[in-house]
Amino acid sequence: MDCQACGSEALSDVFRVDRVPVHSCMMVASRQQALDFPRGDLRVQFCEDCGFLQNSAFSADLIHYSTDYEETQVFSSTFRAFQTRLCQEQVAKHELQGKSALEIGCGKGEFISELCEISGGPGVGIDPGYRPERNESEAASRIEFIQDLYSPAYKHLKADYVACRHTLEHIQPVREFVQMVRDTLDEATDTVVFFELPGGERVLREMAFWDIYHEHCTYFTLGSLARLFRRCGFEILDLYTGYDDQYLMIEARPGDPDHGKRFEAEQDLDQIRADVEAFRGGIEAKLKGLSDQLDEWVQAGKKVVLWGSGSKAVSYLTTLGVTDQLQYVVDINPHKHGKFLAGSGHEIVSPEFLVEYQPDAVIVMNPIYLEEIRSDLKGMGLEPESWAV
Ligand SMILES: [Zn+2]
Repeated sequence: MDCQACGSEALSDVFRVDRVPVHSCMMVASRQQALDFPRGDLRVQFCEDCGFLQNSAFSADLIHYSTDYEETQVFSSTFRAFQTRLCQEQVAKHELQGKSALEIGCGKGEFISELCEISGGPGVGIDPGYRPERNESEAASRIEFIQDLYSPAYKHLKADYVACRHTLEHIQPVREFVQMVRDTLDEATDTVVFFELPGGERVLREMAFWDIYHEHCTYFTLGSLARLFRRCGFEILDLYTGYDDQYLMIEARPGDPDHGKRFEAEQDLDQIRADVEAFRGGIEAKLKGLSDQLDEWVQAGKKVVLWGSGSKAVSYLTTLGVTDQLQYVVDINPHKHGKFLAGSGHEIVSPEFLVEYQPDAVIVMNPIYLEEIRSDLKGMGLEPESWAV
């Protein structure tokens, strides 16, 4: 397979894990179903020419998004504050008052709803996992929600602002997808397009293997993302990171790719090549260190839980091959309690369960939630050791 972002054949292997769950945000009702969950392979490859990373073993035919998909982060106050600030900034920056918005891959509709609350304008949200009964926004009546994957069939949907957040990393033919978005905009050069997705730079530098999983078949850096947008006929308006540098943000509009500002972050190829080398050289030792540490805790009789039952937890546990070294994974999203993690089969429990369980240690799957979680633990009278991966 060639590079899905630029077509180059200059791909080299970076990281490989066989037989990982094909989905990591699916709600699974029983432990057996979770253990029997369909599996695919990870074979992450790096494009020497454009700095893009892809899972060349990705099996799109095993992926089925549905309303059982539980990706929302809005139960976290840290995340809600981030989303509110983002909506306010986007409305102010692009003067979206009263304007129309379209969100491709809107999930449960939280972002498009909050954006339309602030802008006062109408909207359209498209996502196969949308759940109308979960949307209590006053703006919901101004928004048309379509439970489907975005495709050229929806090119008649015009808007002043098009958002696509945490979706591109689930799409293998990235160039075709961005080109499709560009083509549907046609001559609408005033339409602002905003994409947000996880950043590959941090995954490489921190050897954050838990952020590499089957559902995410592509990994961008700011530079490789900007190169793709320029290649597809966009003029780039802004290029930056957010959420403690975990997310990449790009704002663009249809136009001359050579027009407008060049961003320093676009000159990242040499750095990314060096980061890929360091990842290749260090990842085995990192995995072994963490496995050994888990074994030590088990031998010392310590009760350890993970906090955060999203994709990171699924990847962390399955990549390290964790089985009964730990029993539970905690999540604040009530829709996940009593369900099981795909692949590893760990049960998802509520934070309140910990009062009874009395864990000795809590591993937090995302450092941005560490303070919020420590405060939640303290509020329940618990003070286990806690740290972020
Ligand atoms: Zn490439």
